[in-house]
Amino acid sequence: MKKRSIGRKKDYFSKVRKKQNRDWSRKEKIQIYTLRDSGMPAKDVARKFKCNVTNVYNITRLMRRGLKQKCFRCSTPLTAEELAQKGFFKACKKCKKEFKEYKKGLRDEALKKGLCGYCHTDPIIPGYNSCVRCISATHRRRNKKGLCGQCGDRPPHREGASLCSVCLAINEARITDKRHRGE
Ligand SMILES: [Zn+2]
Ligand SMILES: [Zn+2]
Ligand SMILES: [Zn+2]
Repeated sequence: MKKRSIGRKKDYFSKVRKKQNRDWSRKEKIQIYTLRDSGMPAKDVARKFKCNVTNVYNITRLMRRGLKQKCFRCSTPLTAEELAQKGFFKACKKCKKEFKEYKKGLRDEALKKGLCGYCHTDPIIPGYNSCVRCISATHRRRNKKGLCGQCGDRPPHREGASLCSVCLAINEARITDKRHRGE
């Protein structure tokens, strides 16, 4: 009897394991949190969402921290200034700083090797800090926000354009410079 239940459990988890790296929508996360909060056992919630119990625990914990306005990483209560951050999950100053330094470390290491500072895998375009793929992704993201794709600071020089007048001038100067040098 005991053996059979273990076998079934194994089967269930091996099925679940194939669904790793699942992208949880915010709606799903809120649903999981609400169900757990209303007293539904974690294993029932897991069955409902076809995930494992650990997923349920993790999501519930993160949601609770988000709702209670604590740092999502270390759960220290946040100050008024930290609470003004955008987004549902907020981090304390210490965690933010640590994360920033960690990311900067990865970036510096990649750039030293001549790799893109964003994805750390593809080689950089000479004169830039990112690869072709990342530079265009950044460009598109900035344009979507209504900013210059190159600097991300100023609005485009005219409607529908992708660069601001400053960046446009810089690029034109660069092109004429290359022509003068005969490149
Ligand atoms: Zn923290
Ligand atoms: Zn890249
Ligand atoms: Zn610009």
